Order: sequence, then C-alpha cells, then structure tokens
Amino acid sequence: MDSFEYTANTPRVVFGSGSLKKLPEEVSRLTVSRPLLLSTPQQLRQAADLESILHGKIAGLFSEATMHTPVDVTERALEYAKLSKADSVISIGGGSTTGLGKAISIRTGLPHICIPTTYAGSEMTPILGETADGRKTTRSDPKILPTTVIYDVDLTMTLPVGMSATSGVNAIAHAVEALYAPNTNPIVNLLALEGIKALASSLPELIDDPSSQAARSSALYGAWLCGTCLGAVGMSLHHKLCHTLGGSFNLPHAETHTVILPHALSYNAPAIPEVMKKLADVFPGSEGDAVRGLNVLLTKLKVERSLKAFGMKESDIDNAADIAVEKPYKNPREVERDPIRELIRRAWAGEEAR
Ligand code: NAD
Repeated sequence: MDSFEYTANTPRVVFGSGSLKKLPEEVSRLTVSRPLLLSTPQQLRQAADLESILHGKIAGLFSEATMHTPVDVTERALEYAKLSKADSVISIGGGSTTGLGKAISIRTGLPHICIPTTYAGSEMTPILGETADGRKTTRSDPKILPTTVIYDVDLTMTLPVGMSATSGVNAIAHAVEALYAPNTNPIVNLLALEGIKALASSLPELIDDPSSQAARSSALYGAWLCGTCLGAVGMSLHHKLCHTLGGSFNLPHAETHTVILPHALSYNAPAIPEVMKKLADVFPGSEGDAVRGLNVLLTKLKVERSLKAFGMKESDIDNAADIAVEKPYKNPREVERDPIRELIRRAWAGEEAR
C-alpha cells in the first residue's frame, strides 16, 4: 500500500428519522442556551418548528439566508446575533443556510449546530464560499466546520423531486473527484464508494416514490459520506469547472454539477483507469463503463442535461473555456483549452458524454 496522510476532521453526527427531537440535548451538550436560528425565507416553517422543539429558548430567528453567502446578509445576521445575545447558531436548510451558519461561526467563535435538508454536503467541510461586490472568494479553516450535525430524514421529505435528484448528483460528484484527488487515501476511497453506491441506488427509488423514507434515508446517508470526501481531499476539474460556470454565468449550483459530471469524468477517464473500474462497479447498468453507468443514472433521474436550458449563451462558451484554463490546478489529465472548450460545448448543447 502507498503511504498516505489522513485527518479525521468531522463534526459530531446524530443521524436518523426523528433525530431533530434530540436538538435540546445537543444544545445542552455544548453548554449553550441562546441559539440564533438560521433559515432561508422558504424554510421559515421548519425553522419555526425548531423554536417549539426548544420550548422557545432561542435568541432569535434570522430567515434571510440566501445563495452564495453574501457578506452583507452575514453582517445583518451578525448584528442580530449581537443584539439578541446569541451564544450559538443553529442552521436548518441546504448549503446556502449552512454557509451563513459557517460565516457567523468563523467570525464569532460561536458553536454551530447544522441541520442539513439537502444533499449538498457543506456541513461536512471546513470550506466557506462568500460573495462581496459580485465576487466569490473561498477559504478553508478547520474552525469553519460545524460542531454538530443532525441528519433527520424527515426534514428532507419536502425536498422537491427535481432538487433531490440534482442535489444527489452534486453529492456523487464530491465522491467521484475524491477517488482521483491528488491527496486521496484508502479511507476516503471507502467513504466515496459507499456514498456513491447508496445514492446511485436510492435516487431512482426516490424519483419513483418521493414519499419513500427508506430511499430518502439512504440518500441522506450517501450525501453525508460524499460530503465527508469533499471536506477531506482536494477537488479537481469537475468542481473547478462548476465553480467557474456558476460564478461567471450565474448558473444554478446542483443543476450545473449534474450537467457537467459525466463530461468531466469522460475527460479524465484516460488518466484514471483504476478509478473508472471502481466506479463502473458501483453504478448499476454501467456494463463495465462508468460514464455509461452515470448516463443511465441521469436518464433515470430525468434531469436536465444542457447548460443552455439554464440560460448560458453559446457565445459564453469561449469565455468559459478561457476562465477554466486561467489558473493551473492538479488534475489527473492535463487541462488544455481546446478539449475543455469542447467539453463545455457538449455540456452546453446537452450532448451525452461518451
Ligand atoms: P440551497 O441551500 O440554496 O437550497 C435551495 C432552495 O431549496 C432554498 O430555497 C432552500 O430553502 C430550499 N430547500 C432546502 N432544503 C429543502 C427541503 N428539505 N424542503 C424544501 N425546500 C428546501 O441549495 P444547496 O444545493 O443545498 O446549496 C447550494 C449552496 O451551497 C451553493 O451556494 C454552494 O456553493 C454551497 N455549497 C458549499 C459547500 C461547501 O463545502 N462550502 C458544499 C456544497 C455546496
């Protein structure tokens, strides 16, 4: 076995249907008593439920979390946290709300209990992306990791089917790139393959029956493992491309990951034969070809396959290719402009990856 380094940097996890009821215990465990609740306006009801679970013992509720963690929203939330004498934060929602929780926690040192309701995986990473003046900056610091994560499948039952599918593929993408990360290791490989397996089998079940708690539970478990991979090792072509496309052309996060993943995998395939074999084993219907397996999964999930459907223009392709090759980073296959332009063109047009 090759030498490797592994840092187990993870929050405490409480997993299971109904685990939200353990919130008061988790708050006491941290010896805090005045949490500030965070949510988006769309999830205000779920946040209000937390208030009753905590018998009203909260500092307040801030429901303005929004995409890309804008710094002006964080500053308003910080002001509210200070005025209400909050001694902790509890975020309930997807990556956007988790981002706000992280942004407050890293600035104040307040402990952060995170209750994820999508499969984005941010709760397992020490990474925070924030926007100011239209620019997104990302930083990584172990102190950004939430203190406690509560995964309660019941909260994901309301996640619309389309979002469940794309959010699930977003999670799979973390694990796929973890398998060929420059600093990958055997532990992360185990988590990645188990996470992909759980999602690849549960997501189609969930599409057929959105009320299946078993399928949603398995998807959430997979998302946790995939999020751990994202937090543990460096990401490459796929994540860099999605970051560029999302940031420069205002494309939606999980949907962009879903369109790009088969193309990024196909681009890297010649440089990662061992990884392709492992992936082919965990994608049902792959017939020994991981890209085919991923295409089969995406067809079952009935997800949008083109970037143009999200408003990207054909004239943006060249600009996107230029930005994508601007800053060098580690990737199994050299990142060259012409084939990257072709990758983006195919994804823009919605052509199937081969
Ligand atoms: P999101 O948090 O933006 O949520 C999208 C919408 O769905 C919101 O309106 C939200 O309120 C709603 N929603 C969430 N869960 C729901 C549920 N169970 N039922 C009904 N509605 C629900 O979307 P996301 O994809 O989870 O997160 C995307 C953001 O997270 C991006 O900004 C991305 O950059 C960030 N992210 C960061 C990391 C990291 O490690 N820092 C990792 C992954 C994603």
